[in-house]
Amino acid sequence: MKFVQTICPYCGTGCGLLLAVKDEKVVGVEALTANPVNEGKLCIKGWNVHEFVGHPDRLKASIIRKDGELVEVSWDEALNFTASKLQSIIREHGGNGTGLLSLRKVLQRRKLSAAEIRASPGQPECGPLRTPLT
Ligand code: SF4
Repeated sequence: MKFVQTICPYCGTGCGLLLAVKDEKVVGVEALTANPVNEGKLCIKGWNVHEFVGHPDRLKASIIRKDGELVEVSWDEALNFTASKLQSIIREHGGNGTGLLSLRKVLQRRKLSAAEIRASPGQPECGPLRTPLT
């Protein structure tokens, strides 16, 4: 058994944890005592974070609905499809026709900033929900 240090993916708190890995499968979780955020404590979601990793319903690839069926596609095709749909909506409805909702940790990990999102085409608002920019 080996332990892999990571961060809980469920909320923006970012508790540190150790995933227990046995025979290449995640089989358990331990709270990371050295993490200053959670100091060895986890909530019920964190204590069960290992259960979704091997779940049969977990999405492991990008998918697009084609002719009513969900079809696995490459990341390039999925991103191009999404970009073209967003551009089409912005052309037809302006910036208020689209929105972007993201978890705080995604912004931190991907190094996206509110300023970068604000600078995207037609985005008049950026910030906590229902908080317009001044
Ligand atoms: S353990 Fe609970 S509080 Fe900590 S990051 Fe996960 S969901 Fe959030």
